[in-house]
Amino acid sequence: MLPVERCRVYFFMVMYECLDCSYCYMPAEGAPARGISPGTPFEDLPDDFSCPACGGPRERFVPFSPDQATPQ
Ligand SMILES: [Zn+2]
Repeated sequence: MLPVERCRVYFFMVMYECLDCSYCYMPAEGAPARGISPGTPFEDLPDDFSCPACGGPRERFVPFSPDQATPQ
């Protein structure tokens, strides 16, 4: 039953998007460039986490919603 539990955990981990460069933090992949292990939810990232792509601060990330990604 372990694979089922893994899927359930991943399902609840929300992706976060950087407002400055549109980099998307995916918890299932983590951020190896910042020393973040795969499977780390955004909420568990250190306060000094910065965007691996543009170096922007953690505060510049917002929960990614596919509904808001459509062109206006
Ligand atoms: Zn960025």
